[in-house]
This record gives sequence, C-alpha cells and structure tokens, in this order.
Amino acid sequence: MKYIDEFRDGELARGLAAAIRREARPERTYHLMEFCGGHTHAISRYGLADLLPANVRMVHGPGCPVCVLPIGRIDNAIELAARPGLILCTYADTMRVPASKGLSLLKAKARGADIRMIYSSADALRIAREHPDRDVVFFAIGFETTTPPTAVAIRQVAAEGLANFSVFCNHVLTPAAIANILESPEVRELGTVPLDGFVGPAHVSTVIGSQPYEYFAEEYRRPVVIAGFEPLDVMQAILMLVRQLNDGRAEVENEFTRAVTRDGNLKAKALVADVFELRRTFEWRGLGEVPYSALRIKARYREFDAEARYGIAYRSVPDNKACECGAILRGVKKPADCKAFGTVCTPENPIGSCMVSSEGACAAHYTYGRYRDAVATARAG
Ligand code: SF4
Repeated sequence: MKYIDEFRDGELARGLAAAIRREARPERTYHLMEFCGGHTHAISRYGLADLLPANVRMVHGPGCPVCVLPIGRIDNAIELAARPGLILCTYADTMRVPASKGLSLLKAKARGADIRMIYSSADALRIAREHPDRDVVFFAIGFETTTPPTAVAIRQVAAEGLANFSVFCNHVLTPAAIANILESPEVRELGTVPLDGFVGPAHVSTVIGSQPYEYFAEEYRRPVVIAGFEPLDVMQAILMLVRQLNDGRAEVENEFTRAVTRDGNLKAKALVADVFELRRTFEWRGLGEVPYSALRIKARYREFDAEARYGIAYRSVPDNKACECGAILRGVKKPADCKAFGTVCTPENPIGSCMVSSEGACAAHYTYGRYRDAVATARAG
C-alpha cells in the first residue's frame, strides 16, 4: 500500500475485525493499552472499538504530551512569561492547559504577557533573531518525537552565539512511562488495571526504534506491537497482539515497518545525546514522580537552559479535584467515568489537560464518541 486512503479501507478493516473475532478466545479477555494519544484518536475517530469483540478491550495510556504536563510546569511557564520584556514561545495545545488559580498560558497572554504560538522550534529561533533586545524562551514539551528539533535549536543558537535564546525543557521519555505503569500498584498488586499487551507508539518509535521496548516485553512478559496511526495499522496491531497472547509469546513486533526500524534514527539519537541527559526524576500528571523519565539540558549548553538562567523552582500542584485525568492517564478510568465529562468540561472549556489536546482521551471521546459514552454510562448506572 502506498497511499493514505488505502490504510483507511473499510472492507479491509472489517476483514481484520473478523480475524480478531475469530482468533480471540471466548474464555479469556484481552486488555490492550494503546500508549499514544494518536492511537486513542484513531480508535475514537474511526470507531475501531465498535469493530472489536467484547472480550478485546482497549485501555488508554498516557502518551499525550500535553496531557501529562503537570500543573506546576505550566505555572513555571506562566511565571516566566510574566517577566518584563520576555517572550515565551510554545506549541498551540499547551496554551489552554489549565494551571493554578484558574490561569492558563492563553489567559496570561490575554492579561498582557507576550506569549507566542509556534509550529516548531525553528519559529522560536526566528523570533529570537528578530528581537535581539528581548529574552526569548522556548517552552519545549513532548516525547522523543519533538526532542531532536529542540536539540537542533540549542546547537544552532550555540553555533550562532544567540545569547537571548533559552529553552525551558520538559521533554519526557516513553519507555520509562510504560515501565512505571507496569510497576504501578493498580497493575502489579491490586490487579484493578489488567494489562495484557501494548500497542506501541508510532512517531516516537521512528526515532528510538523498537529496541527500547524489548526490555519490558521480556521483563514484564507483555507483548508490544508498534503500530502506525491509521485505522488498519491499529487493527492489524490488535490482531498481532491477540495472536501473541494466544501463543503465550511476549515479543516486540513491528507493524509500522514502513517507518520504524529496530535501531531508530541514529542521527536524531546522537543529536539528543549530545544536548540532553536524564533527569533523576520528573513529575508526570497522573503518574506522579517517575525516575529517569525526562531530559534536561547538559552542562555544556547550560547558558541556553532557562531553568538555570532564570532559577526556575518547581512546585508540585495537585490537580483539580473534579478532574479524573490522572486516573485516565494511568488506564484506571475512562473519560465517561468523570462527572464533568461533556457537562462542565468540554474542549471549549477544558477543566483538565485530557480535554485540551486533540490527542487527549477526553477530547477524543467527546469529539467522536460522546453519545456512545453517554449511553454506556447510563446503562452501567
Ligand atoms: S472530562 Fe475534563 S475534568 Fe473530566 S477527566 Fe477529562 S479533562 Fe478532567
């Protein structure tokens, strides 16, 4: 297949669904976590869950970069933006994530802070070059997919000697988050979140490759199938996971062979290794403090590290009590379990981060499946 619409062919999807129904054993249940928000989005958008038999259940994971940002980090960014003369650059989704005191970056901008929405780290660099008399900070977030462009920006400013540019680094790592979920009490001791296998990330894996997943496939005896973001990719990955579980295998398989190799993008990985190092710990929304799950800027690029330059001090802030984002990001609850879902919390008025980004589970359910969710909740009640 060469073209995108071929990966959205309804007939083929129904054929894969029939194979899953045929091969899923009726005496057992298959709980499969899609780590990535991109997969959550595809499952909701194309109604894939409706094609699956009742004993094949999809569990949403924490792989939405905006969703996992804790409130304290947004507060830090707002404090930075409040500095006189400073320009804060960030991706659009980050603008509406609720922070402390009813604030968000968007509201801070409305109150006069100079916050610019950008599409890439190159945009932030351009703004720094255009305003040599102003401090420009790039609020960098995201998984391994967005880390290499941030590394490129830092190396570029170092080469140019662009002294007014720095990066507030919040890049996080996928394998550490998956291991954290598998180590969580809900999975390990309480068994309240049964997890039999993972649909592995698409874009992240183009950078890191399939090799990093081999550790926990073996250590935790859970199969991983890396999949693209198109509906047939996801259905094929589910079938591959069902087959592995039926065979008692726990291997890393790669459905997304058109983009992912075992070793990933060596050039991008070398760039990241040159600029960043592991943080000892980092707070994730929903997962709490996760050891060695994020990156910070190495000492050799310290002058471009906004945390060092502005002495940013992190304070952990609890989530809004009405919001179930944390439980949703751990796979413990679904969006329809939240009383605020679709009532006080909507994409226009998000209470939590999972309703902000289109990759967030609440936004995906609201946009594509809220009526089904409402019916399911009513039936359960
Ligand atoms: S519906 Fe809104 S309040 Fe509820 S968990 Fe999702 S984002 Fe949080």
